[in-house]
Amino acid sequence: MPEPASQKKDAAQPAAVIALPPTALCVLDVLEGAGHEAWAVGGCVRDALLGRPSGDVDVASSATWREAQRAFEARGLRTHETGTKHGTLTVIADGSPVEVTTYRADGPYDEDARHPKSVSFVRSIEEDLARRDFTMNALAYHPRRGLLDPYGGRADLDAGIIRAVGDPARRFSEDALRILRACRFAAQLGFRIEEKTFEGMLANKGLLVRVSTERTTREIEKLLVGRFAGSALLSCVDVLAAVLPELVAMKGFDQRTPYHVHDVLEHTAHVVDATPPQPLVRWAALFHDMGKPALFFADARGIGHFYGHPALSASMARGAMARLSLSSAFAARVLELVRRHDDALSPTPKSVRRMLASLGGDVELFRALCDLKRGDAAGQAPFCRSRIKEVDAVEALLDDILAADEAFSLGHLAVNGRTVLALGAEPGPIVGQALDAALDAVIDGEAPNDPGALRAFLAEWLAEHADKARS
Ligand code: ATP
Ligand code: MG
Repeated sequence: MPEPASQKKDAAQPAAVIALPPTALCVLDVLEGAGHEAWAVGGCVRDALLGRPSGDVDVASSATWREAQRAFEARGLRTHETGTKHGTLTVIADGSPVEVTTYRADGPYDEDARHPKSVSFVRSIEEDLARRDFTMNALAYHPRRGLLDPYGGRADLDAGIIRAVGDPARRFSEDALRILRACRFAAQLGFRIEEKTFEGMLANKGLLVRVSTERTTREIEKLLVGRFAGSALLSCVDVLAAVLPELVAMKGFDQRTPYHVHDVLEHTAHVVDATPPQPLVRWAALFHDMGKPALFFADARGIGHFYGHPALSASMARGAMARLSLSSAFAARVLELVRRHDDALSPTPKSVRRMLASLGGDVELFRALCDLKRGDAAGQAPFCRSRIKEVDAVEALLDDILAADEAFSLGHLAVNGRTVLALGAEPGPIVGQALDAALDAVIDGEAPNDPGALRAFLAEWLAEHADKARS
């Protein structure tokens, strides 16, 4: 067991008053009322000390899961047997789930570094805290007994340091996911990773290939949407490379163009930070320039060019996402953004309607593209920032088009396939082609979207088309 910084159980600091979520207080109350010991632990204590909202609530208790279940059921609370093999029971308090885990120590991890092969149940909260990953997560709190902090987690929280509990190399070799957890905590909290901890991460990053892609993908996504994602990408790139080797070529790659003052990775980090913290646009920001290093060439004046880089970035992103665990529908939308991030999009109704049509009428994707383009401009040389205003104008036009319910997809057209057939067209591909032509005409403002005008347009188009087919 790692040597605690402050040893004894009565090292709890009763003076600390922490605003735990009410659900945690209720669960502690029920367990202690039934004669067990229970503490709020891990992330919810860390987040309460930081004054940030907590993702989920974890409680550690001397009760076995069956004892805990009896205590909750006696108070009319519903439970789910979510991980009883590992001593975990989920109780629903005030409609929210709280995980209650019996004090335990993890045995050796299995070959794919995913789960402890066995867990052994231990008697004290201190022994339980020893198995936790970082000092800031090895904190326990009880409203009467105060804060239990055997590894100096509070001081590390105050100093903004991520530090492994115990010997870093051993802790990362037990469970390599902890390596990515450190990176994502850096991204969420803006903390720095302590040197020995970082060395342990580097030395064991090769073990990440054995961790399930569901778990690694979840951590990378949490990193990407973190408030300090850009700085974590830069500081952790050598570790992240074990999962995303494509990042290596981006690091330090001088673009040698007046549009850029940063290397490709720094630019990417700026773009990530300058986009809203949503998975779709952040994944696209991560990938958008990935193809640049491979396509670089310098012209006679020594200026760098990257012709075709969106297509290569998209193809590399496809490969990266296939290794990760992202749904194919989500990956397709990320690819669309990467592919189009450099497309011209001028603030004219025609250009906006065209782009919307070519995105299949997906308004959310269009807005994400605007976010990506704004982020991209924000990450370029200062003189490129005027492009941000241009994208704002594009989005304002989009709002107008949506408010006016203007046509940008076949579904919006005042005519349909039956109209084309009624005009005498043979059933077949020509029907779709005629409708596409009608939509183009409406988008370009050459025909109004009303049945009479479009019937006239279609009749003319069909006649012309039939003429062409004959000649
Ligand atoms: P989040 O904000 O994502 O919930 P968290 O730190 O609470 O962050 P959880 O996955 O909810 O993360 O885990 C709860 C606690 O369990 C952690 O704070 C930590 O004490 C411990 N823990 C989680 N994963 C590991 C791990 N892989 N190795 C060691 N301890 C872990
Ligand atoms: Mg948590």
